[in-house]
Amino acid sequence: LVRARGIRKTFGGNEVLRGVDLEVRRGEVVALIGPSGSGKTTVLRSLNGLETPDAGELEIVGGPRIDFAAQRPLPKAARYALRDRSAMVFQHHNLFPHMTVLQNVIEGPVQVRRMPRADATAHAEALLARVGLAEKRDAYPFELSGGQQQRVGIVRALALEPDLLLFDEPTSALDPELVGEVLRVIKELADEGWTMVIVTHELAFARQVADEVVFLDGGVIVERGAPATLFTAPREERTRRFLDRLL
Ligand code: ATP
Repeated sequence: LVRARGIRKTFGGNEVLRGVDLEVRRGEVVALIGPSGSGKTTVLRSLNGLETPDAGELEIVGGPRIDFAAQRPLPKAARYALRDRSAMVFQHHNLFPHMTVLQNVIEGPVQVRRMPRADATAHAEALLARVGLAEKRDAYPFELSGGQQQRVGIVRALALEPDLLLFDEPTSALDPELVGEVLRVIKELADEGWTMVIVTHELAFARQVADEVVFLDGGVIVERGAPATLFTAPREERTRRFLDRLL
């Protein structure tokens, strides 16, 4: 579904991505792990057009193949082509505080995807019910727990019916006792066959949910592999050192 080749990105002289190749097959769950500052979030943001790499190629199957070095500045149409294929779940849920749960969820489908309001509402209600939040549709974000807010964040992403779900450390801002309920929802989505890229520090979760784990360090992919292999018998010294610190 996703083919990225040689993605490079520099912020003010700081080369954050130094040639990242990433492939994600349809239905696959890829966990992106690595030290703080290694470029994980930048990879994720590049996949959905929130960040524009300086060089490299990116294709989401069915959309255009974008050559970032050749297409500068990146045409709006190319950015929209990326944005429309994926939906991002952020570390902080980023819900609109002045809107109810339902309004937050239907905003994207109605405003961006031009879905009729009644259809968007019915779809949103079904999705909220699935994550156990049907009775919260008229609540405001501040009335919810952090875990509930994050589940609404996930529903808001699902409501866009993306081909690709991107999670940027979806549980790192949560109190420990709320992490489980959010991970459970993500695991269910994985089991349902959603294609996802997950940036996470929760290695036990990555091991449980991912088909492939990608270890990023210093803006390059150091190692990738099935979780059972990468976590127990990493080939690279850098991977081993990172895991030793965390496990
Ligand atoms: P973390 O686990 O801490 O979230 P990360 O692996 O996701 O880290 P990124 O957020 O991709 O790393 O950031 C990589 C580097 O790029 C960091 O040094 C960061 O300061 C820098 N960076 C990211 N975005 C910008 C930006 N918009 N402007 C300047 N520097 C940036």
